Amino acid sequence: MSILFTDFSPLNFITVTEKNAIQLQSLVKISEGILWLPEKLKISEKLVNLQPNSTLKNTKYYHESLSQHLANIWENSEGIIFSLTIGAVVRLVSPLLTNKKKDPAIIVIDPHTKYVISLLGGHQANADKLTELIAHQLDAKAIITSASYNLNLPSIDTFGNIFGWQRGKGNWTEVSINIARNLPTLIRQDLGLNWWQNSLPSSHPFIFENTKDSKSIIRENTEKAMVYIGAEKPPNIDIPCVSWHPRILWVGIGCERDTSPSLIESAVTQVLDKYNLERKSIASLATIDLKKDELGILMLGKKWGLALHTFTAEELNSVAVPNPSSIVKEEVGTPSVAEASALKSALLPNLRENQQKSPHLIVPKQIIRQEGEKGAVTVAIARSNVEYNPNKGKLYLIGTGPGSIEYLTSVAKTALREADIIIGYSLYIDLIKSLLRPEQIIESSPITQERQRAERAIELAKWGLKVAVISSGDCGIYGMAGLVLEILQNQNWDGKQPPVEVFSGITAMQSVAAKIGSPLMHDFCAISLSDLLTPWEVIEKRITAAASADFITAIYNPRSQTRTQQIITTQKIFLEYRKPHTPVAIARSVTRDDENIIITTLGEMLNHSIDMVTTVIIGNSSTKRYHDLLITPRGYLASPELSNEP
Ligand code: SAH
Repeated sequence: MSILFTDFSPLNFITVTEKNAIQLQSLVKISEGILWLPEKLKISEKLVNLQPNSTLKNTKYYHESLSQHLANIWENSEGIIFSLTIGAVVRLVSPLLTNKKKDPAIIVIDPHTKYVISLLGGHQANADKLTELIAHQLDAKAIITSASYNLNLPSIDTFGNIFGWQRGKGNWTEVSINIARNLPTLIRQDLGLNWWQNSLPSSHPFIFENTKDSKSIIRENTEKAMVYIGAEKPPNIDIPCVSWHPRILWVGIGCERDTSPSLIESAVTQVLDKYNLERKSIASLATIDLKKDELGILMLGKKWGLALHTFTAEELNSVAVPNPSSIVKEEVGTPSVAEASALKSALLPNLRENQQKSPHLIVPKQIIRQEGEKGAVTVAIARSNVEYNPNKGKLYLIGTGPGSIEYLTSVAKTALREADIIIGYSLYIDLIKSLLRPEQIIESSPITQERQRAERAIELAKWGLKVAVISSGDCGIYGMAGLVLEILQNQNWDGKQPPVEVFSGITAMQSVAAKIGSPLMHDFCAISLSDLLTPWEVIEKRITAAASADFITAIYNPRSQTRTQQIITTQKIFLEYRKPHTPVAIARSVTRDDENIIITTLGEMLNHSIDMVTTVIIGNSSTKRYHDLLITPRGYLASPELSNEP
């Protein structure tokens, strides 16, 4: 089971032949989807014969016609994946299509599983992304026809989703077409995270407006479309315009008991209108805990799909506000409800960026009464420095293998493609860059900042992003996985949120071993010579133990520019237990462009260059060199009666 596909759940797979049902098995299993088959296959002899020892997992059978069955599952599907001919799929789905906001992603896998085609719901139902993930998983080719995808641009109608932004009104079709035609498009981003701007290809059509000192839109009259990102109402402009609204407004409400619900709604609406603020940018509503059952506030939260945060009088008392009221203090024990609860709730997004500057009030308290409506309402609005993100984040801890991307497992590739953000040491990120999507955010950092990297990854996953943390080789072998999990443990992580999955990679030792034959055929161990985190005495003890117990030994981190003595001592210790002619491999940058492998001996190993991208493998007492290979006998040939064992 993997957490990779949970965003697309429930997934339904449909096919009508035994062969394709079996081909889809691993995909159905990893995505925890349901495979639907016609009832006649239930009793199929062939199906049973093809899988003699197992039954099909997660499989259900439909009794009605396929078109009727499709109609039954349509509403509750995030995605439907067909292994059928395209023509059949088009005919089957066309009567059911409503609009692109509602329809599930429709994907077709050709019967030979060579191609995975994103047929419908490319952007809004995320079919393009799902198509890619499936293609990676099946080692097939993804066929994606979206214009933005092929221009390597973020898709304008979905790219804000990962930050929890809400899509505003506007002429989405026109703007998308303009961008697809690479026509100059004005971007005005007033607020919200702008990381997406960093990974644009150099040929992008965007013109970024500098909004620092001007409220008005400065145009050069060459722009053919506009994208507005902010908390205001979209601008009135004579070119097609669309808007995204980061959820950055925190509305604090105070009111008299039993104030009429319609007055509360109209009060908040009036205040938004007066300050030209967009409702879709509201992150949540807030009030004092005494009002947690105030009908009008609850009704507004429900109608607008907003959570309600409540604070005690004591909590609100500690917030400095511009307009305290002694009357309010007398009544509820704090001089401010609306302003203080707005400010207090704006502290909720748990991201470093939010702590750099405290949230501030952009609308001081407004008191609203209305003739004929019972009660009175106070509304204040605070702005946080970072937007609220309702998405549930995840952490993927990925081993990217020794270097070249062919050595990456397919599930690790899928995880890399699925993530919103990739965090890692810059060299490793460069090695996998060709696999990334244009919308993915990259945070690379110097090699020494492991702890900061791990903390950042956890912070972003808790905030709502799907974060991939990468290590070379295997993530759990001298890599980032242990560090991330240790920090989570220190934070009393409940083991569930954020969900974490570790994706294994081929560690340096294995990739070196494969290049030089079969040195690890008998008991082996790995020792890192880096004494930054481990005292040298401990390392030395382990070297002695490995050498004396005749373990084949892989040496990681053998020598750095400043740390040169350790490999010399290692050789010395090994020479106490093993012959100088014991075969040794010195393998540098395995599977990368500058790969260099030297086969030498224990006695002569120090005559060769050894550095921080090198792994040294020291054979055991029976390892032999044969041409350029190291072979460690396991003993089959010495015990003829065992030589038939697999
Ligand atoms: N997580 C990594 C190890 C990180 S420690 C893994 O599982 O492989 C870093 C050390 O790994 C380097 O000093 C070197 O000894 C080894 N190493 C990593 N990549 C390598 C490569 N491509 N070729 C040879 N050694 C490598």
